Amino acid sequence: MLDALFKPASVAIIGASTKELSIGNRIIKNLQDFGYQGPIYPINPKADEVRGIKAYGNICDVPGEIDLAHIVIPNKYVPFAIDDCGKKNVKTVIINTAGFKEIGGKGAELEELVVNKAREHGIRVFGPNCQGIINTDPGIRAYCNFTFTKPEAGGISIVAQSGGVGEVINQRFSELGVGIRMYASNGNACDISIPEILQYWGRDDETRVIVLYVESIADPSKFMEVAREVAAKKPVLGMKAGRTEEGAKAASSHTGGLARMEITTELMFKKTGIIIFRDEEELCQAAAAFATQPIPRGKSVGMITNTGGPAIIATDELIEAGLKIPKLSVRAKAILTDQLYSAASINNPIDVLATANAGHFRAAMDVLMEEETIDSLYINFVTPFFVDNESIAHEIVEVNLLGKKPIVCNLMTDKRQWVGTLRILKEGNVPCYAFPETAARALVALTRYGEIRAREVGEVHIFEDVDMSLALEIIRSKKESGYISQADVNGLLDSYGIPVAPWSLVDNADEAMKAAEKIGYPVVVKVDSEEIVHKSDVGGVAVNIKEESTLRLTLNEMSDKFSSLRYKFFIQKFLSSGKEVIVGAKKEEGLGHLIMAGTGGVLVELLKDASFGIAPLTGAEAAEMLASLKLYPILSGFRGQAGVDIGKLIEIIQRVSMMVTELPSIVEMDLNPIFAFEEGRQPIVVDARIKI
Ligand code: ADP
Ligand code: MG
Repeated sequence: MLDALFKPASVAIIGASTKELSIGNRIIKNLQDFGYQGPIYPINPKADEVRGIKAYGNICDVPGEIDLAHIVIPNKYVPFAIDDCGKKNVKTVIINTAGFKEIGGKGAELEELVVNKAREHGIRVFGPNCQGIINTDPGIRAYCNFTFTKPEAGGISIVAQSGGVGEVINQRFSELGVGIRMYASNGNACDISIPEILQYWGRDDETRVIVLYVESIADPSKFMEVAREVAAKKPVLGMKAGRTEEGAKAASSHTGGLARMEITTELMFKKTGIIIFRDEEELCQAAAAFATQPIPRGKSVGMITNTGGPAIIATDELIEAGLKIPKLSVRAKAILTDQLYSAASINNPIDVLATANAGHFRAAMDVLMEEETIDSLYINFVTPFFVDNESIAHEIVEVNLLGKKPIVCNLMTDKRQWVGTLRILKEGNVPCYAFPETAARALVALTRYGEIRAREVGEVHIFEDVDMSLALEIIRSKKESGYISQADVNGLLDSYGIPVAPWSLVDNADEAMKAAEKIGYPVVVKVDSEEIVHKSDVGGVAVNIKEESTLRLTLNEMSDKFSSLRYKFFIQKFLSSGKEVIVGAKKEEGLGHLIMAGTGGVLVELLKDASFGIAPLTGAEAAEMLASLKLYPILSGFRGQAGVDIGKLIEIIQRVSMMVTELPSIVEMDLNPIFAFEEGRQPIVVDARIKI
């Protein structure tokens, strides 16, 4: 429970200062200005009072109980302050002071000392190197923070690792006239963590929307567990910084190189149902809609406009994002024909015309609210001087307050002239935007969340035919870490029911001839050496060898070429006509494994067509990974060409996911390529590498 942090009954400031331009003074001023409801105790050995409030020399001298203490004294004194707080039974401290883990070395040691002391005393720590919290609840009014934005009360709670970003977001909401509920920026997060804060707000009924800004996630498993639980209850709008290259999928041929931590965070967001943003402004604008609007049941938008151009822009934006603007029913058209101007456009978008009055707007809104096929309303409202705009605003508000379907409004106006109209809409909780695309994107975000809420995540399938004990035996027999032998790779794949093309590993050319005989022509010869990573790059793969004489020639050539290396011959059945797919896995510390699927073969680096997911994957997740590939149309059949058995590929991905989940010592794995075949035929692996 974080009540002592967010709803402190009393606040002390260790390091309270009489100097106006100091943090120890500012926090007290902020508490006073914001109307904090509890007692404030400045702690300062030299002053009798700070900002007109009686000060105490030591926190232990304070007569009352203390829920929360700010610590704003220099870093080296902080451990002593923690001891004092221990004696006084302070429940939680906010350490604003910097100079801890973020500076490394001595700072990190100091932070550890502080954490240990706090734990001994049973004190929870927020920070260090942080801003603090804000709670706008009228019964609390806690501004335990040294910044300057004074938010109005509302339904959005913000947690930002970075105080700077948090403040910018807070400030933007303030400018937009959107209220917030609670705010937290926890800096180094040595004790009270973001998952804990998310969980707390998940249970706070007044928090309707959570805004989350992170730079790194300390405990990914914990984060995922909590995020999943909270995002199922209320919208969580997430943004992660530190994403420099969109080309996260670039890098190298290995799953390891392809998967960067940046995308991993977005994958965590995706898997847990957090709505991903890459732009602070867009996030804030969407949050404003989330704070007041219900979640659409589907993708179909009904649009009302009293001007042409903006409706076109909005339509483009909505359609591009995959939303729909369906035709209206006959019934709806009949009503509108009857109630709107004869020159009005009775379609979707409904153009009520610039001269439309409140009654016209109301008729259009009522019709859309009744339309079965419409899930949300988009209103383009320009304020002409020849109509009663305030009456129109009143009608919009009235419909909005019914809360039947979400409404966003692109309000095109001069804010100085139409003050009343603006105020009516704002007080009526209608999210208003200055540009059609901004309003459209907010509606897209609402719709996405609706889809996330409704999505079938499915179950993680457990394959009963897996021989885990055999696989464990293979892994346990390895004394060293690194890539394991081909025989062991194939053994592991076998035990997890992942088919491998018939193969044989032999020492010399004569044995290779015998092996080919056994496997049956046509065959493939590959050179197998620890010194070679990509065999085909060095001419170490010869495919489609149809007869003995060609095989003999190929073996002789390879023997000459690789005479300076330690190598073996890998003879394999040649497969024709399959589509080449790559499936890989990579371990991420604290998270488990990332699974990758993509266009396979020797062109992996060139095509960079890959998608990722976090193990364990459900069938639905694996299916979505494949569906997001550029290769997908080819896999599913393109221009008369037959597709492949996608269900069986999905199964392979799930088996790989199960394998790495059960065998966490696998750090990296590449099945490249897997040949996928037509409906009914098993995909087959022809090349695999596993690192443990
Ligand atoms: P590497 O990745 O080390 O270069 P691969 O074994 O993946 O070596 O072979 C390279 C390419 O050769 C594959 O992408 C595939 O096109 C082809 N190939 C390899 N093995 C077979 C096989 N058994 N049947 C058909 N084509 C194969
Ligand atoms: Mg390969």
